[in-house]
Amino acid sequence: MGFSRRLVAVASGLLHNAAAARPASQQMYACSRLGSSAALRQLNEKNDKKSLVIFDKDGTLICFHSMWVPWTLETAKRIEEHSSLAISDKIFKLLGFCPHQQKVRPGLLAEGTMAQIRQSIVELLTDHGVEVINAHKIVSDAVLECKTHSKHTLKEIHDLQKLFGDLKRHGVKIAICTADSRIGTMGMLESLGLNTMVDRVVCGDDEGAMPKPHPRNALAICADLGISPEQTLMVGDTVADLGMARSANLGGSVAVLSGVGEHHDLHHLADHMVDHVGDLMPIVLGAAKIGSSSAPLNL
Ligand SMILES: [Mg+2]
Repeated sequence: MGFSRRLVAVASGLLHNAAAARPASQQMYACSRLGSSAALRQLNEKNDKKSLVIFDKDGTLICFHSMWVPWTLETAKRIEEHSSLAISDKIFKLLGFCPHQQKVRPGLLAEGTMAQIRQSIVELLTDHGVEVINAHKIVSDAVLECKTHSKHTLKEIHDLQKLFGDLKRHGVKIAICTADSRIGTMGMLESLGLNTMVDRVVCGDDEGAMPKPHPRNALAICADLGISPEQTLMVGDTVADLGMARSANLGGSVAVLSGVGEHHDLHHLADHMVDHVGDLMPIVLGAAKIGSSSAPLNL
């Protein structure tokens, strides 16, 4: 089974198990989304302010495309140079990059860790006749860290100082859970002056971290901050982000349309859908009803 299929199988299994094990509060969310009971809706709207928000990073807080498109083009070029194989199109397909639109689509690059990306390129090279030891060397030499805190590629999706300040003023804790590396993530937070406002950061290369949608990272953040999963909201732009919210039985999820996921990719997993994180505060404070949306949400 190829990596992508394994990822899908793991995600499907986790989501199936999570759906079966969802607590009563989340089953009530589902009821209220369907509008089946006014009493349940009123119950959900009571005390629904969240105590913790876990943010995905790329595509949710900062622009995915301005950062990862240059990295993708450079990586494909370097792999071709180091392997002497005309393999760019296959690398683009593997990563989920559309060279015609110059955009990243949902897939390995948007949802996987750098370790998963490197391993998948090794497998692609061996499928094209490169010996395993040489494939590892090519990937080691050619696949470089993305300069995620470069001023040339780092673009905020919203005024994050204001958003994080608003969350702090309301006593809401802030965490970031990303597939990106710790060095890139901390550099980005420092560049944007956010590092002292974030209570917990979990990165793709942290020891013991598990790729989304596995629930481990979300549950570890909740445990470290002493906040129950039910009081926690997950915000992200991919199926993996929203899948983690479900597999960890978090209190809710918000899909943002500012990254790689589009409405039809995300709506079936999201409790709320918004254009970007600038629309988040009413949801965090419990002032927005389940299923509310600043973007079309076909329930
Ligand atoms: Mg993302």
